Amino acid sequence: MANVLHDALFAPLTGSARRFLILPDGQEMTGGAFAALAARMAHALLAAGVRPGDRVAVQVAKSAEALAVYAATVAAGGIFLPLNTAYTAEEIAYFLNNAIPRLFLCDAAKAATLTPVADAAGARLMTLNADGTGSLAEAAAGQPATFAAVARGPEDLAAFLYTSGTTGRSKGAMLTHANLLSNAEVLAREWRFTADDLLLHALPIFHTHGLFVASNVSLLTGGAMIFLPGFDRDQVIRWLPRATSMMGVPTFYTRLLDDPRFDRALVAHMRLFTSGSAPLLAETHVAFEERTGHRILERYGMTETNMNTSNPYAGERRAGTVGFPLPGVELKITDPATGATLPQGEAGMIEVRGPNVFKGYWQMTEKTREELRDDGFFITGDIGVVDADGYVSIVGRAKDLIITGGYNVYPKEVELLLDEQPGVLESAVIGVPHPDFGEAVFGVLVAQKGAALDPAAVQAALAGRLAKFKQPKGLAVVDELPRNTMGKVQKNLLREQFKGRFAG
Ligand code: AMP
Repeated sequence: MANVLHDALFAPLTGSARRFLILPDGQEMTGGAFAALAARMAHALLAAGVRPGDRVAVQVAKSAEALAVYAATVAAGGIFLPLNTAYTAEEIAYFLNNAIPRLFLCDAAKAATLTPVADAAGARLMTLNADGTGSLAEAAAGQPATFAAVARGPEDLAAFLYTSGTTGRSKGAMLTHANLLSNAEVLAREWRFTADDLLLHALPIFHTHGLFVASNVSLLTGGAMIFLPGFDRDQVIRWLPRATSMMGVPTFYTRLLDDPRFDRALVAHMRLFTSGSAPLLAETHVAFEERTGHRILERYGMTETNMNTSNPYAGERRAGTVGFPLPGVELKITDPATGATLPQGEAGMIEVRGPNVFKGYWQMTEKTREELRDDGFFITGDIGVVDADGYVSIVGRAKDLIITGGYNVYPKEVELLLDEQPGVLESAVIGVPHPDFGEAVFGVLVAQKGAALDPAAVQAALAGRLAKFKQPKGLAVVDELPRNTMGKVQKNLLREQFKGRFAG
């Protein structure tokens, strides 16, 4: 009997003597060894009571064993639910009570704190440590090295990924076998992955980027991965000369560019660098090409939809854009208020439809109805624009839209101008409460290394370039912008920090 995702991604590893993972200490794991590990874990999951359709929630460090839990859960017909390793006990309580998993895996160091949390949600707790030890590993040790995968069809659920939840509570996006496989197939083809690829994998595997985009594409094509626990610049520079490809968030690339060891010779043999999860500044794109000769391929996606658009592998990779809708993905720009399709060139809500789009939010029918239309289009919450050549650009999140004195301001337009000013490294534009205007445009600046920024001069420079209502009513200089693990600027924190600027 078939198990769609298992058959495509993991079954081919069975018995393979080819290298599958290179681990941080230089040790290599063959596909066969990984498949045997996953099979033993699948038996252990079954023994722990996991049945088809059950959730397996994991908050564990990235490791070969953690990836094997994903493989084992899929093989056992379960639903894989990875959680950010930074979540606190209180946050974990929310996820477990919401998802009601059969099993919850965490590091042994957290077991004492999290056992009552798991008990309260009716989940069994087992441990898996960063070094691969723990009660799950013990339970798996004596199990057979082969496992007959449980039958799962294309529409069966394979994973729940919770949204990062910067506004309101995090929602569990339900992803099917077909959602994940179709996207991996498209990306592998578009980005020309083959069994000869060695992907430098430094992304977390609790997020769609590292788990599905990176790992699934590599698995599907029979390639191998240098599987690093996280982004450590020295480690990445050490391993890059072995890799053929790397997927990253923009901060990976800015941090590499900050290091003189990162040069043309180091990456001469590389085939592909991709970027996503947060906007890559056009300036970074240009600096990267100047330094290395490579043009970063930027793509756009999200937890609920996997990947939606990508710059072309062979054609022009246009800085500041996220490229074209992927094959099979329909994309339209609509009026956020009415849902009507807007003419080409106008900014509006990005809506997408395709085999990549999730099935809805777990036990949140109301939220699902608000964001997923009956005709299958998903209202992404991203504001975008399509240029005359068909390239899509993201202008910002709808919720970041500033309404000042009744006028709409898209922060990106102001940020692009601020970034051009001498001495400005980057900026974030937010709306803060204002007694007259409701909201006022407010700019937060980071200075380039060694530059002294004069906010008044920056303000004056913008005066002739932007309509008055779009000009920041105040500017602040900070050392760095707050970012989450995926490199996204946390504007909610900035809004909180500067909310009193125009009070009274
Ligand atoms: P997540 O669900 O955590 O993957 O976050 C998805 C959101 O990240 C999208 O809705 C976008 O707002 C943002 N995002 C992802 N890729 C890009 C990109 N290449 N450029 C700009 N924003 C992006």
